[in-house]
Amino acid sequence: MNKYILSDMTWPEIHEGFKSAKVVIIPIGAQEQHGHHLAEGCDSYRAEHFCHLLAEKCFPDVMVAPTINYGVSPHHMNFPGTITLRPGTLQALLEDIVFSMSEHGIKKFLFVNGHGGNTATITVAAEQLAREYDVEIAHTKFIDAAKQTIQKEIDSQYFGHACEREISECLYMVPDIVRKDQMEKGGMKDNSFTLKHMNNPFVKVVYNFDEITHNGNIGDGTKGSYELGEKMIQEALINLSKFIEDFIDSGRN
Ligand SMILES: [Zn+2]
Repeated sequence: MNKYILSDMTWPEIHEGFKSAKVVIIPIGAQEQHGHHLAEGCDSYRAEHFCHLLAEKCFPDVMVAPTINYGVSPHHMNFPGTITLRPGTLQALLEDIVFSMSEHGIKKFLFVNGHGGNTATITVAAEQLAREYDVEIAHTKFIDAAKQTIQKEIDSQYFGHACEREISECLYMVPDIVRKDQMEKGGMKDNSFTLKHMNNPFVKVVYNFDEITHNGNIGDGTKGSYELGEKMIQEALINLSKFIEDFIDSGRN
């Protein structure tokens, strides 16, 4: 079996691995409510499993750091079980991981994010850390790399959280966290101000999730399938593995 998961390796194995691995991938998730049909670790599990698949595909060029199992989720705090980091906490975690890895000679990082609420913080952290530590950092909300499949296969007006997209990803990668007998549509609060402006192209409103949905999910979970998950994940793996090739061959660092 290929070895690329840092937490499962000894230091001599890692020492050997670093001879060929030029990029360290950091999965970043969340602990937050995902409706009645997905366990709250959804974003962490998806990010982690995706990173393992990506690293297997890119072996021996990359290694995977331990998953950050918490994210910036204040908008889900009105549901039981959500644990949120302050943006500064996530930034500090990323800084300590990048610092540690750079001490071991790693110069390229790919932050692989599974939770939209982390994006703003990750963008700020990447910008700051790349310059401060003289390393290269790229970051992705990994499922954005499956745009073609998503545009073709998903037609819900609102989706992106505990929806057919996330359920499908989970059915393909981590089926045990899906409550198949509970799959349902988002209980949208149709007349709410926040829902009206959720997809506003020029204004972003800070909101709480219980302002837009009764049950915590959006989209239509009943349309989730293993097949859709497979298509999206395979498309994202192809696109991101090509990116990693370019990232390594870039001649920068
Ligand atoms: Zn999610």
